[in-house]
Amino acid sequence: MKAAVLKGIKNIVIEEYPLRKLEKEELLIKVASCGVCGTDKHIFEGKASSSIPIILGHEYSGIVADKSSSNQKLSVGDKVVIDPNIHCGYCSYCRRGQVNFCSNLKALGVTLNGGFAEYSIVPDSQAFVLPKDYSLDYAAFAEPVSCCLRAIDNASIKSGETVVVVGGGTIGQLMVQLTKISGALKVILVEPVKFKRELGFKLGADYVLDPNEEKFIEHYNEITKIDTDVIIECVGNKEAVDLSLSLAGKGSRVVLFGLAPKDHFISVNLQYLLLNEIKIISSLLNPYTFNNSVELLTSGRLDIKPLISKQFSLREINSVFNNNSNIVKCQIINNFKEAA
Ligand SMILES: [Zn+2]
Ligand SMILES: [Zn+2]
Repeated sequence: MKAAVLKGIKNIVIEEYPLRKLEKEELLIKVASCGVCGTDKHIFEGKASSSIPIILGHEYSGIVADKSSSNQKLSVGDKVVIDPNIHCGYCSYCRRGQVNFCSNLKALGVTLNGGFAEYSIVPDSQAFVLPKDYSLDYAAFAEPVSCCLRAIDNASIKSGETVVVVGGGTIGQLMVQLTKISGALKVILVEPVKFKRELGFKLGADYVLDPNEEKFIEHYNEITKIDTDVIIECVGNKEAVDLSLSLAGKGSRVVLFGLAPKDHFISVNLQYLLLNEIKIISSLLNPYTFNNSVELLTSGRLDIKPLISKQFSLREINSVFNNNSNIVKCQIINNFKEAA
């Protein structure tokens, strides 16, 4: 099969890659769509670790092309989406239900070969069957949505609350929609890029603000009446975390979602934290949220179409990784799909 193999920092080669035989309880997936995520770019640039050489891509959907197990729930020809995070089930974290902390955690597209290829071999426990008429491109959003759901759970959003989403990339645009579904009354998207603010507004944000605008804080205080319940940081750098903390008021919960580079630190005034009872919460991966993510997507309650900025073929993958222009989500697609 053809695969995009990361051979070293900033070095992806499209090559003929031998497919191994299926082992017990594995599926061969003919990959349809695979989203390009910030984590892929971090790995590509050497800012996050992985097991090089590797086929990246952890946000993918496809069709079951072969199976080794007797699992009756999965058949050749089924449309599926893959949960890339594989926990061991027997370490002390897994046994306490904290599978996102698994000591032996593996991830397709991070430590095991993933979805930037024609085919991918996955344990059948990681495949979620989709309705026959559901778009495989939209299904590739199940992983990012499942991670967002973890953050939404950790934020404990209650009906009527005011929520600020910092950052209007894919995650921010999903968070805008998910916080509304979770009962937030006022959702404010803070994002410097105009078209992302416009998109956020279209997708349900009640207010959109540019943090670089001169009267930003004035407008923010007018809207929130200095009473913000939740701030969700969806960028992953120290500037965005500083901004998020500066928007917190009395009793605010600040959720850190974006993965910042290893060398980013912040300094916080401790009296400010204590006197305002500000809670800093973080969110890691997608423990037990993948099923709900698939349910939400296939119900049609999330608007996914406008999030897909551009689709590329596997051959064009280098141009995606070497391009830093401001878009929302790129997908790598194999052009067989709806024919199957
Ligand atoms: Zn991702
Ligand atoms: Zn474990």
